[in-house]
Amino acid sequence: MFAAALLSTLFILPVPTEAMDPYSELRRLMVEEQIKARGIRDPLVIRAMEKVPREEFVPRSLRPEAYDDRPLPIGHGQTISQPYIVAYMTEKLRPRPGDKILEIGTGSGYQTAILAEIGCRVYTIEIIEELSLRAQKVLKKLGYKNIHFKVGDGYRGWPQEAPFDGIIITAAPPKIPGELKKQMKIGGKMVVPAGDYFQYLYLVERTGAEAWREKKLIPVSFVPMVRGN
Ligand code: SAH
Repeated sequence: MFAAALLSTLFILPVPTEAMDPYSELRRLMVEEQIKARGIRDPLVIRAMEKVPREEFVPRSLRPEAYDDRPLPIGHGQTISQPYIVAYMTEKLRPRPGDKILEIGTGSGYQTAILAEIGCRVYTIEIIEELSLRAQKVLKKLGYKNIHFKVGDGYRGWPQEAPFDGIIITAAPPKIPGELKKQMKIGGKMVVPAGDYFQYLYLVERTGAEAWREKKLIPVSFVPMVRGN
C-alpha cells in the first residue's frame, strides 16, 4: 500500500524539459516545416539543425523571432541567414565528420556551429572584428571545439591551412574568387553566392589541378563580400 503510494508520487512528478527550454518546440517546428518539408534530406544536416540553439546567435531582443523563416539583423548592417538557406548550403557542401572546412563570413557564428555540430574542423574568417569576437564567445559558451577564428579579408583565404575539403562563403562576391578556388582539395567542394545585383548560389567542384566544374543552383540574396585592405 505504502509502496504503491510512493510509486505513484514518483511517477506523477512531471519532467519539466519543455519548460526549461522554451525554444525547443520552435526549433522542432522550424526543422519540420522549413527544412524537411522543403526537401532537405541529409541526416547530418537535419540532426545539426535540430540541435544548435539558433536563439543564442541573434540579438537578445530578437530571440522570440530566432526560428522565423527569414534572415535577421545581427548588427553592423549584417544578417544571420535564413534557416533554410543554411541547411540548403550545408547539404550542397556535403560535409562529413572530420572534414576540414573554410568558412568566409563568420557573422553570428550560426553556420559555424552547424558545421562544428556535424563534426567538421572549421576555419572561419570574418572581416568585422566585433562580430568575430561575439561569435567566438557564443561558440565557446556552447562548448564547440575544433573551430579556428581569424579576423581579416576572406578573399585571401587561409593559405597556411589549405587545401580544404570544403569552402562555404556566406557573403556575396561579384564573381567566384580565384584565390579561394586554389585552396580547395582536388575532389573538394565550394558553395558560394555570387553576383552584383542578381545573385545565384553556385556549387564548385575541383576536378583536377587546374580544373573546376561549376553548377548554378538557386537565386539568393546575400550581403556583399567586401574587399579588405
Ligand atoms: N554565416 C553568417 C552570415 C553572416 S552575413 C551567419 O549565419 O550569421 C556575412 C558576413 O560576411 C558578415 O558578417 C560580413 O561582415 C562578412 N564579410 C563580408 N565580406 C567579408 C570578407 N571579405 N571577408 C570576411 N568576411 C566578410
